[in-house]
Amino acid sequence: MKVAIIGAGVMGLSTAYYLSKSGIDVTVFEQKYLLYGASGRNSGGITPMIDREELIPFALESMKLYDTLPSEVDFNFLLRKEGYVKLASSERDAETLKEEVWMQNRFGVSSRIMTPEDVRDFIPDFNPDSAVLASYCRESGVIFPWPVVWGLAKGCRKHGAEIKTQSRVERIETNGSKLIVYSNGEKYRFDFVVNSAGAWSNEISKMVGIELSNRIIKEEVCVTESIKPYINPYIYDISSGVYVTQTARGEIIGGITGMEVDKIDTSSTIEFAIRYAKRVVQIIPKLKGLAMLRQWAGVYDEGRDGLPVIGFTEVEGFVQANGLGKHRGMVIAPALGKELARLIEKGENPSIKKFNPERL
Ligand SMILES: Cc1cc2nc3c(=O)[nH]c(=O)nc-3n(C[C@H](O)[C@H](O)[C@H](O)COP(=O)(O)OP(=O)(O)OC[C@H]3O[C@@H](n4cnc5c(N)ncnc54)[C@H](O)[C@@H]3O)c2cc1C
Repeated sequence: MKVAIIGAGVMGLSTAYYLSKSGIDVTVFEQKYLLYGASGRNSGGITPMIDREELIPFALESMKLYDTLPSEVDFNFLLRKEGYVKLASSERDAETLKEEVWMQNRFGVSSRIMTPEDVRDFIPDFNPDSAVLASYCRESGVIFPWPVVWGLAKGCRKHGAEIKTQSRVERIETNGSKLIVYSNGEKYRFDFVVNSAGAWSNEISKMVGIELSNRIIKEEVCVTESIKPYINPYIYDISSGVYVTQTARGEIIGGITGMEVDKIDTSSTIEFAIRYAKRVVQIIPKLKGLAMLRQWAGVYDEGRDGLPVIGFTEVEGFVQANGLGKHRGMVIAPALGKELARLIEKGENPSIKKFNPERL
């Protein structure tokens, strides 16, 4: 069996890793370089404390995979499991946090509600007046996305997969039970083609006549100069969408959860920098005056009902693996990739049936 994976982000590489580990012949096509997509531009917050119950089992499974994958692929993902705090700054959002925690606990997530004062136990400079309620999960943290991508790529190669960078897929043709992929003037025949092109997944789907219509979301983020590491958990304010943490190098990294856009757009804006900085210094006043060094943006996609789109399609051999959604792709991709590999290998996998493209 020969499988093409389009897109070397965390979703494509996780799928490629588990397929190649099972001895399947895999070729990954990446239009630019490793880290070009959202997987190379995100802030690395990982937690099972997410707001869609359909995804929590995959987040829990990925958290376990993140413990074992680094030694499996022999690459340090620089994972720091020092907790994740969600904040609410309105009564309505406080209710949402409570409902989320109740739902998360039902699925075995050890999240809990706490007062803003309690947050100071592990973030001493946190301003308790900046929120009305918080939730917290210890079994969460921050991962450095670059080594995740590099490590998965290393694991793929170890199992014989080929990763072709600077290899944009330009066209796909169907020919009986085979799919023909055109890239860099060459053509390749595959039994399966996996569309894990993130924000570009709609374009790839069009190549085989499928109207996917995933939402495209742009998210901006920035880092400051380095200061001594002292913010350990990842902090996400659900009311403003602002999130912040500190990298292992001491930079304060943070952003605002993304907004839907009409087309791929990775420009940076001053409006973002102002909105972000204002809210961050309300949350941790001591950050006022730090120099912002760089800002950038990334794009990712989300299925129209807010869930990923994963599974076989009406075009024989063409498989969707996209639409991971807002601010959670890093935490669900390894488990989803593993399950998708099983679907391709075995022809069925009930655990991911709910993400089947047919539902759309
Ligand atoms: C600023 C920002 C912050 C984020 N923070 C978090 C966070 O804290 N936690 C979290 O869990 N998630 C976060 N996310 C979301 C997360 O990064 C994404 O959900 C995830 O990386 C998506 O992975 P992917 O593999 O689906 O897509 P991508 O990583 O975008 O990979 C798709 C790849 O397909 C390639 N491609 C496209 N078209 C073609 C073609 N024609 N031929 C070949 N290759 C092609 C692209 O170049 C790209 O590399 C954040 C995202 C952003 C932008």
